[in-house]
Amino acid sequence: MARRILHLDIDAFLATVEQLRDPVLLGKPVAVGTGVVASRSYEAKARGVQTAMPLHEALRRCPELVVREGDSRLAERYRQAVAGVVRQFSPVVEICSLDDFYADLTGVPLRIAQALDDPTRADSERSLVALCRQLRARVRAETGLSIAQGIGSTRTVARLATTKAKPGGICEVPPGAELDFLAGFAVEQVPGIGPRTVELLHQVGVATVRELWALDRELLRQSFGARGEEIWRRCRGLDDTPVRSTPLLRSICRETSFEPRCDAGSQPRDFLRAMLAYLLDRAASELRQQQLRARTVQVRLHHVDGVGQERSRSLAAATDRTDVLMAAAAALLDELLARRVLVRLVGVTLSSLAAEGARQGRLFDDGGAARRRLFAAVDAVRQRHGFGAVVLGAASELLGQLPHGRHGFRLRTPSLTK
Ligand SMILES: [Mg+2]
Repeated sequence: MARRILHLDIDAFLATVEQLRDPVLLGKPVAVGTGVVASRSYEAKARGVQTAMPLHEALRRCPELVVREGDSRLAERYRQAVAGVVRQFSPVVEICSLDDFYADLTGVPLRIAQALDDPTRADSERSLVALCRQLRARVRAETGLSIAQGIGSTRTVARLATTKAKPGGICEVPPGAELDFLAGFAVEQVPGIGPRTVELLHQVGVATVRELWALDRELLRQSFGARGEEIWRRCRGLDDTPVRSTPLLRSICRETSFEPRCDAGSQPRDFLRAMLAYLLDRAASELRQQQLRARTVQVRLHHVDGVGQERSRSLAAATDRTDVLMAAAAALLDELLARRVLVRLVGVTLSSLAAEGARQGRLFDDGGAARRRLFAAVDAVRQRHGFGAVVLGAASELLGQLPHGRHGFRLRTPSLTK
């Protein structure tokens, strides 16, 4: 079966996020960046503002341009939300840069046709383009963002199809039409052909993909090594690099602030350790629920004098075990507490996430199978009776200090994964 790869790019991503955050900006020319334009709204584009243009030049062309610095955490939330929608349409979704994604749709329309099994539906409604229209509508409804989509038999063809679809469109290159489609593109538009390669190609009179076809495969290999071979394949619609699934979350973090405690004039270390244990327990439960493992643990503190501190450590192997993660987190907390100023916020972040199947270091398994079964059992109890049904380890120190119920301890400012 011919591969059907979808490439998807969010239109004017960072500028649109600013417009969604602050609806006063809707319909206005907006740019995000410091120094140069990183992203611009279509209103700004219509006024001559381009990506990578110095901001002073952008403001000269469009004096009413609204310039914002952007908010990377908010952008990340939108990006993950889009990835979540794409996942509803394909099990294999790759997040490949700030605002673009690949999904493998091979066989997906067949499954949809079977699932619908509705003879009143026209074939056109079962097509990939119809699927992409649904995807576009759902991204719009759930996030407010607009996307451009390209479909082809290779990553290169799909990605170049997206350039034809911007903004907001859908462009499908049917199987067999790849060479005709690729012929007219300038070589610098082909993913993987960088500025230096372009310069060398121009020197030998090659400006388009069609012209590149005249170059000998062996010559490309000699001139550019393995990359030359890859370029040869990409320009002929023969690259077979698969879409690689990216875990949906990049990190899981939990944090909370509280009244600084100074009983007897010193920071009660036990309280901070208990709070950290509780937050880590929540983060690790989420990790297991997402069927992920984490390799990096970060702990951060905010002090009452406004100073923030953080420290992180990477484990030898990714894990989803609360006890292993807590051992690392507790050591980090001890290091951070060398600063003897009262603390008003504790946070923990688990990152370097990998899907459960991709576990490393199985050969050196620490005999943790029994522990893993224990945490699976804890998760099952909490699923039925609420997170508060089990209090683990050092977190029990919080009992009697914080209100506790079915859903766990009541924190002053619980903060979920960003
Ligand atoms: Mg984009």
